[in-house]
Amino acid sequence: MKVVHIAFECAPIYKTGGLGDVIGALPIYQKKLGLETYVLMPGYGFITQLPRLPKSSVPVIYAESPYFKEKNSKHDPKIAAPKYAHFALQALFELKKRNIVPDIIHCHDWHTGLIPFMLKNQPDSFFINTKVILSIHNIGYQGNFPLKFLDTPETAQILPLLNKNSKRINFLKQGIHNSDYILTVSPNHAREIRKRQVGFGLADVISKKRGRFKGILNGIDYDIWNPKTDKHLLQRYSRAHVENKKYKNKLTLQRQLQLEINKDIPLFGMVARLSKQKGTELLLPLLSQFPKRRVQLVILGTGDKHYEKLLKRYDKKRFGEWLSVNFRFDEELAHRIYAASDFFLIPSLYEPCGLTQIIAMAYGSLPVATRVGGLADTVIEGKTGFLFESFSSAALLQTIDRALNVWQNPDKYQLLQKKAMMGIFSWKKSARQYVKLYHKLLKSSK
Ligand code: ADP
Repeated sequence: MKVVHIAFECAPIYKTGGLGDVIGALPIYQKKLGLETYVLMPGYGFITQLPRLPKSSVPVIYAESPYFKEKNSKHDPKIAAPKYAHFALQALFELKKRNIVPDIIHCHDWHTGLIPFMLKNQPDSFFINTKVILSIHNIGYQGNFPLKFLDTPETAQILPLLNKNSKRINFLKQGIHNSDYILTVSPNHAREIRKRQVGFGLADVISKKRGRFKGILNGIDYDIWNPKTDKHLLQRYSRAHVENKKYKNKLTLQRQLQLEINKDIPLFGMVARLSKQKGTELLLPLLSQFPKRRVQLVILGTGDKHYEKLLKRYDKKRFGEWLSVNFRFDEELAHRIYAASDFFLIPSLYEPCGLTQIIAMAYGSLPVATRVGGLADTVIEGKTGFLFESFSSAALLQTIDRALNVWQNPDKYQLLQKKAMMGIFSWKKSARQYVKLYHKLLKSSK
């Protein structure tokens, strides 16, 4: 079975978040199960275009477009709209050019939302037997633009195919509407987005897909996220020796970030896009509580400039020994924070799956997270982490205090830590569920 995954990012070639991790791993695990998998992504001018995913034989195909030449703001809608519309055209063109006839085209997120639509509007029968699946990794981003933005030399051919009564185009909605099957990345989030409150305006379109919509939990690649072999760490450790070794990573990070160096100070980590979704605003009013409780917090994040400005107010002079905020995308620092921290903050408003809590657990850092989406599916309250219900700073602070209570009892803390480190969220299990679904879909069309 030939399966082509199409997405705008794929780690380690180009990564901005969790979708990159997924596309860099899932096709490899599916290949191990006997599928012929491919990755198709934009041929950005500023990346090294590897021919295959590292340590695998999964080919990577690059779609070319003038829009991919330079790093331009993803947030400028006048650019984003034609950029990803052209991606849809070029992606299918690349497959035809190479004579790759997929059994399944697996699209990921709004950037690929026009591909299912274009598949329905092919002038020939090249893709006639191809089934198309769309995975929603983040329903909060839909690619909703004025239609006129597609009036460019590269994309104007799409306009006559679209509904002339509508002045706007919603890429994700188009994708949902035109796909054979819709997925999201955790069973709990699949339940959530059927409801109007969490469906971001698409609950009704999704509900129409009854029987052709479900959630499959993401995994992580334990070959990459493994404290025993992690090349970014100065002190590697395994689950068996976590209590004697992990703290050395804390001392190293405290030194590197000029925090007070002391292994007994509990350290909270956070690696996230600074956005409303990730609960940055819940954290802001609590920052002064960290020094009060003699607790350290290390944040690594990029994103909303508004939050950066607010976080910068917590200056080095007053908070320097307790708080370190780092505004950049830094793979190595991320690995070091997972390894150094005792607890990990994920106070998300909504979380389709979330990978950082799964990675944190693999590194023996206990998540403190909202009970939403994939966080509720992966963190077990009181056993592998701490969950809270209401999206409020007060609830977050209460839960931080519950976590600190456990920290006071080293035997109990270690019990939770060892359970969190069991490594049960491997891609192996999820990859099998995808393959089963692909077979079902192909069988149903015969
Ligand atoms: P998202 O919604 O942003 O995709 P996930 O939890 O699914 O969130 O995945 C985030 C991924 O991106 C993780 O691998 C995390 O370590 C990484 N990440 C996020 N922000 C940064 C950053 N500033 N520097 C390095 N890695 C980051």
